Amino acid sequence: MYNAAVAALGRDRVLVDRQCLGVEQDDDGVTVRLRKTSTGATAAAARTEVAIACDGVNSTVRRQFYPDERIAFAGINTRRGVTRHPPILGGRTYMRIGSIRTGKLVVYPIVDDVDGKGNQLINWMAEIQVTGLPSTTGTNRASWRISFRSIGIGDSTGSTSTR
Ligand SMILES: Cc1cc2nc3c(=O)[nH]c(=O)nc-3n(C[C@H](O)[C@H](O)[C@H](O)COP(=O)(O)OP(=O)(O)OC[C@H]3O[C@@H](n4cnc5c(N)ncnc54)[C@H](O)[C@@H]3O)c2cc1C
Repeated sequence: MYNAAVAALGRDRVLVDRQCLGVEQDDDGVTVRLRKTSTGATAAAARTEVAIACDGVNSTVRRQFYPDERIAFAGINTRRGVTRHPPILGGRTYMRIGSIRTGKLVVYPIVDDVDGKGNQLINWMAEIQVTGLPSTTGTNRASWRISFRSIGIGDSTGSTSTR
């Protein structure tokens, strides 16, 4: 994506190692305040006609315009992990088991030959709907957590990790 952007726009138009701190708008355009992500040092501001923020769910720019907004919990807890495993069926299989009402498991490969022995890195994700938890908690998201029993998935290498 970086190479495509540089090819289309020119190298001097694509800044990396920059974190947006906020934007200031006036009648002629926008000033984007920046710092270096790697060191935290202030970087030269960028001046432009239009700024489009696509900085994710914890958007700095959105918080500037809507400081009182809070992320809302939709009632679904997710657990995700990866497992090294021989290719399942043809090695390009996406498995979806259950539904959000019953509990859902989604399993698919994300890396081929992860260990030089032909095993794939298999991504798996379990989703469980819960009720009775608050949809908003300010900045304290810990209250959205539920206890979760360990999930066992066939693993040829004995190596499973979760997060
Ligand atoms: C484990 C996992 C699995 C998922 N699986 C799927 C899936 O299978 N299908 C699906 O449709 N969706 C999936 N999603 C959701 C999907 O990844 C998100 O909805 C999507 O990435 C959101 O895109 P975005 O561009 O809004 O934000 P992001 O992808 O979060 O991009 C925001 C970018 O802005 C950067 N950034 C943040 N703050 C600043 C700042 N101040 N200055 C400069 N840069 C900043 C971040 O580093 C990041 O690169 C998954 C998400 C997760 C976590």
